Amino acid sequence: MNKRQLASTIEQLKVFDKQHASVKLEQYPTDALATAELAFIAGFMYNDVKDNLVLDLGAGTGRIAAGALLMGGRKAICIEIDAGALAIAMDNFKFLGLGNRAELINADVLSCPLRKARVKNGFGKTIIMMNPPFGIQTKGADLKFLQVAMEFEHVDVIYSFHATVEKNRAFIRKKVEEEGWFVDALFQTRMFLPHIYAFHEKRRKEIKVDLYRIAREKSTVTGHMQAKP
Ligand code: SAH
Repeated sequence: MNKRQLASTIEQLKVFDKQHASVKLEQYPTDALATAELAFIAGFMYNDVKDNLVLDLGAGTGRIAAGALLMGGRKAICIEIDAGALAIAMDNFKFLGLGNRAELINADVLSCPLRKARVKNGFGKTIIMMNPPFGIQTKGADLKFLQVAMEFEHVDVIYSFHATVEKNRAFIRKKVEEEGWFVDALFQTRMFLPHIYAFHEKRRKEIKVDLYRIAREKSTVTGHMQAKP
């Protein structure tokens, strides 16, 4: 499967139900092409996916986890506060024939006890991939997710999408370094936010986003797509 094919597979998945989508929780389906980019960068550039366990924090309808499983991830655990979104995610995994490789946990990421527990052995590594709420509705929500992600003891690598805002880059770097982690790579991409909420005027809106690879150890990989962190 190439990146375009992966993106169009993801595009076919069910998204948040318009009637129930929560603007407060910043429920937007993660852009299909950006999801495929993430899967390819993590999978091919860094070899972070194959046979590994992937945790998707704020998993919503499961697109990121699905992308990781399609790239050869062994298992995905989706943590999401909204049970309705998780029901859609499970439909999506089943549609893709991945139902037996996905586990759903209905919990608040910000108070999730799982980070203190070691996830069962038998996987190569455990990595986090996430598109947290960007913090437009609740200021700092993305940074809080990042903080929690860095508290997972058995995780060494985190991929996370954040809105491209110059000030954010400095905040994120500071937070990451304070915790003793590294901003190992930064990729610039874009996402289309579909029209799902009544206040939206356009059919869809394009926004710039940064994809971070945050790691406990610096990697030796450098890529031409990288932006200056
Ligand atoms: N990747 C997802 C979309 C992520 S949008 C997809 O493609 O569907 C951010 C998600 O974080 C939303 O699903 C929202 O419900 C969830 N969320 C927001 N705050 C949360 C919290 N405190 N704990 C768990 N999930 C949360």
